[in-house]
Amino acid sequence: MTRLKSRAQRQAEFLEAAARMYSQLEDWYDTHPDASFGELEAEARRQRRAVMGQALAVLINGRDTGYQLDPPTCPQCGQAMPFERYRTWQVHGLEGDTELSRAYYVCRACDGQTLFPPGSETAAAGRSLERRRGAGGDAPGLAGPVV
Ligand SMILES: [Zn+2]
Repeated sequence: MTRLKSRAQRQAEFLEAAARMYSQLEDWYDTHPDASFGELEAEARRQRRAVMGQALAVLINGRDTGYQLDPPTCPQCGQAMPFERYRTWQVHGLEGDTELSRAYYVCRACDGQTLFPPGSETAAAGRSLERRRGAGGDAPGLAGPVV
């Protein structure tokens, strides 16, 4: 779920996820006592990807989703554009899979006039080695579809 968070909240969420990951590694090693170092490392890598994917989502979505209390103005007719919903898309990065989220505004007067206010999220995603999947529209500055 997309929600702005303070830096302390974001850090606490990451530390909780890291603690859960370590606990899961302990549990995995309990049930695989004869695992080789390589097998243990493979399990750690799998869990790390999940934790880092979630951590990057918190880091990016927790700072800025483009949501504005004062709705943006339609560039075509000048009327306020009401918030429609959050659009999300998957980024499959080197460190993990991350779901990014962006506020989406639609002008009621102009058919098809939409807006994703720019922010750190789309800039960060635009610089990543991401691949996207699904369909449903395009985020600004991004080449792929928005899920
Ligand atoms: Zn308009």
